Amino acid sequence: MGCIFCGIASGEVPTNVVYEDEELIAFRDIQPQAPTHLIIIPKTHILSLNELKNEHRGLLGKLILLAKDLANKEGIGSKGYRLTVNCGSEGGQLVPHLHFHLLGGRKLNDWLG
Ligand code: AMP
Ligand code: ZN
Repeated sequence: MGCIFCGIASGEVPTNVVYEDEELIAFRDIQPQAPTHLIIIPKTHILSLNELKNEHRGLLGKLILLAKDLANKEGIGSKGYRLTVNCGSEGGQLVPHLHFHLLGGRKLNDWLG
């Protein structure tokens, strides 16, 4: 079985892309939990936070700066938003390809919200 997010990164799986470059892609979550709910991923297949290495530092820095820019583009920069990574089964990670959730556009009340 292939990885769904690798499928999105390669363009084989159609989805609602909001940003793409050679290293990163951002798209709208299919089950949005807030008015803005984007998924931001490195195109390279990294399973989870646990697999990160020193060589990924630049990639991650770029991803977080992109998250900030996308929050501003979505119009939620000043009101506030949440950037979340779930890791492993107890962390609630369902898709085994490292991804960041960018959530905003409503009051996020607690850690699960
Ligand atoms: P996580 O629980 O952190 O692994 O989150 C995975 C997220 O990916 C969930 O919010 C899903 O709704 C979302 N998701 C799964 N498949 C797709 C897809 N094909 N397109 C967009 N979002 C997806
Ligand atoms: Zn993958």
